[in-house]
Amino acid sequence: MKRVVLLGPPGAGKGTQAEGISKKYDIPHISTGDIFRANIKGETPLGLKVRKYLDSGLLVPDELVCEVVEDRVMQPDCANGYLLDGFPRTVPQARFFDEFLAKRGEELDKVIDIVVDEKILMDRMTGRRVCRQCGKPYHIVTMPPKVEGVCDVCGGEVYQRSDDSPETVMNRFKVYDEQTSPLTEYYRGEGKLAPVDGAGSVPEVFSAICALLGE
Ligand code: AMP
Repeated sequence: MKRVVLLGPPGAGKGTQAEGISKKYDIPHISTGDIFRANIKGETPLGLKVRKYLDSGLLVPDELVCEVVEDRVMQPDCANGYLLDGFPRTVPQARFFDEFLAKRGEELDKVIDIVVDEKILMDRMTGRRVCRQCGKPYHIVTMPPKVEGVCDVCGGEVYQRSDDSPETVMNRFKVYDEQTSPLTEYYRGEGKLAPVDGAGSVPEVFSAICALLGE
């Protein structure tokens, strides 16, 4: 049984690591950001409510997020645990979730905190590029296309998404610092916080996480 939370600032590689953890431990990867984006795409009532927050990089109100997560973790595929990515994002969300679990006689096992220096994060995020046509991701420093601005795979235009612009990235960091980083103290207080150095390669960070989660 593994009930795990993945914490870390934007660009820390939570999504990438979450895929690997979910596969290795055979637990569903629950990303509140993915749930919201799917609802926005499908134009559901929830999608219509949350669109404005995602567009501006602001947090969706706690009440709405908590309802979504509560529903999701009660699904049968969560019976052996789950990996939460992007939730909780505020101390009230964390308190809510602890109380929700306690009512069911459950608790979180571990909170993995991927720690990366802000300068590295800024470089990672503002260097991100993507092909407008096929979606292949690039990075201007670590993984540039062979010809600048042209996709290696399909010849499409390689461009920078608007939410990877320096201004929006700065805004997401600010929201993280103000609202999400206090969670590290909250979970340290509960003895659940497990920090991991996120500056290494994807496989390096993955092994460090697995060492913390055990078999
Ligand atoms: P993410 O993909 O995790 O970066 O989330 C994208 C966006 O979804 C965030 O910028 C928020 O607007 C919203 N969001 C995702 N998870 C939460 C959460 N736990 N609390 C509030 N807003 C969230």
